[in-house]
Amino acid sequence: MEFTVEAAADVLADRTRILIFTGAGISTESGIPDFRSPGGLWTRLNPDDFTLSRYLSDPEVRARSWAARFPRLYGDSTPNAAHYAVVDLWKAGRMVGCVTQNIDGLHQEAGLPLDLVAELHGNADGIACVDCGAPADIHEVEARYSGGDHDPRCLHCGGILKTTVVFFEEMLPGGPIEQAQTWIGEADAVISIGSSLSVFPAAYIPLEVAGRGHPMVIINKGPTEYDNRARVRIRGMAGTILPELVTALVS
Ligand SMILES: [Zn+2]
Repeated sequence: MEFTVEAAADVLADRTRILIFTGAGISTESGIPDFRSPGGLWTRLNPDDFTLSRYLSDPEVRARSWAARFPRLYGDSTPNAAHYAVVDLWKAGRMVGCVTQNIDGLHQEAGLPLDLVAELHGNADGIACVDCGAPADIHEVEARYSGGDHDPRCLHCGGILKTTVVFFEEMLPGGPIEQAQTWIGEADAVISIGSSLSVFPAAYIPLEVAGRGHPMVIINKGPTEYDNRARVRIRGMAGTILPELVTALVS
């Protein structure tokens, strides 16, 4: 196995339908903490509060969830060089789609069209009614919360509102999963960026592309569960390596 950007560019040289798969590691350089490491979100928040059954049954849990969300979790974060490199790959006509485990919306903010991003774990700025499914505007809900309503309800049916971020015990959203399946069928290569490939079912997505005989390139700070399945893996920061790789591919 090779470990250089040149080696990665080599195995992807003639690939025009690359699937991009991203995890928390692509956003750490945007100042977004991951969930598990020291200083990560789980040192500030109680994971039990993000269990679907507890959220639905206890208004106190919902109040704590909204308290953690307002002010907006990622309001000040901006995309980094890795997010922009993904956009460059798309503009060069080499990308089939981007499947992300992240909830920060930074791929779209960098300029990737909405229909090219499948958010497997939801979006921190998305809110919907768990009963009727109607979306709610985060600013409107925040205004109600700030006004003292700590269990804001759906304006259409009075149902419980919840972030679209996928909670423990919750199924992954059907739309993004279907989109990812379509792209898996179309892809001729996959680049996994900033994911330890340890969270399932999300990690099946790059592995399935690799399982079809297409090259998988892994870019991650540390080892991943499936380094042995990668044609090339590169250890390091996504914001440095991915722009170099994309430049090598599109120039
Ligand atoms: Zn509703």
